Amino acid sequence: MAKMRAVQVRRAGGPLELVEREIPDPGPGQVRIKVQACGVCHSDSLVKEGHWPGIAYPRIPGHEVIGVVDAVGAGVLNWKPGQRAGVGWNGGYCGYCDPCRRGTFFACQTATHITGITADGGYAKYTVARAEALAGVPDELQAADAAPLMCAGVTTFNCLRNCGARPGDLVAILGLGGLGHLGVQFAAKMGFRTVAIARGQDKAEFAKSLGAWRYIDSRAQDPSAELAKLGGAKAVLATVTAGDAMAATLAGLGVNGTLMAIGAAMQMEIVPAALIGKSTGIRGWYSGVSIDSEDTLAFSALAGVRSMNEVFPLEKATEAYERMMSGNARFRAVLTL
Ligand SMILES: [Zn+2]
Ligand SMILES: [Zn+2]
Repeated sequence: MAKMRAVQVRRAGGPLELVEREIPDPGPGQVRIKVQACGVCHSDSLVKEGHWPGIAYPRIPGHEVIGVVDAVGAGVLNWKPGQRAGVGWNGGYCGYCDPCRRGTFFACQTATHITGITADGGYAKYTVARAEALAGVPDELQAADAAPLMCAGVTTFNCLRNCGARPGDLVAILGLGGLGHLGVQFAAKMGFRTVAIARGQDKAEFAKSLGAWRYIDSRAQDPSAELAKLGGAKAVLATVTAGDAMAATLAGLGVNGTLMAIGAAMQMEIVPAALIGKSTGIRGWYSGVSIDSEDTLAFSALAGVRSMNEVFPLEKATEAYERMMSGNARFRAVLTL
């Protein structure tokens, strides 16, 4: 059997270890991808630390995969070797359960494939993915540039285009990290009056360079009061993981405005009575499925949206992971092969 380099987690809480593994063959409905780049996402800690139930170890993490189709399994009609392809968190869906029949594929109940969690992911020279989980990658995007768009990118892009705002509306992006620095760019390119909210005046220039129209320093200013002065936000894209920071923007929503929560905060205090007067609301947003990722990549190529990345070779996966977990990466960490 031919071998490949891969980085795996042998047991919950164990290290990321560089190993030789057999190159996997694609089964029916599957495609093998020769990986060129894979982003390192905070959710990879679910695999490393065993915080996702039922993971079968050893497991190769990675759900921000960009590469080239290398082999196709039986029954795959729409992909052939040589095509560029990306794979994100959603690793596929059944097509026959009730949510799938209603077109809400992300909520598939029977075949919940998650790349790098229920099956091996992209920290490897090759990976196998289900054909319906593949996104086409435009020629204009380099592999390392495209990788973070498969999770951080699609999450922010797809949330923004479904947040109810129309061009010219006021939209705030809360947080300027891995998600937020993409969110500001997408919002600006979508034609929203884009307000970035982060802590510290030192981030103002950076926010403007990403396309923000206004900047709110949440250390020195009340985000809700500032948003209200600007007329109230149609949407706040909350990328932070602090519930109190999210709650501090709620009164800054305008009529029918929505707080779109994509940061995995565990708790948030709200006053339901305060939502009534302006019919405001709070909702979560699942990142998206493969066609959403493909749209994200195409829009990024068209509009010049770029993830800012720190790039590491596969062999330095531990360094890349620790850099990402430290919160100091500017702004996403990416492994290249
Ligand atoms: Zn992710
Ligand atoms: Zn289904």
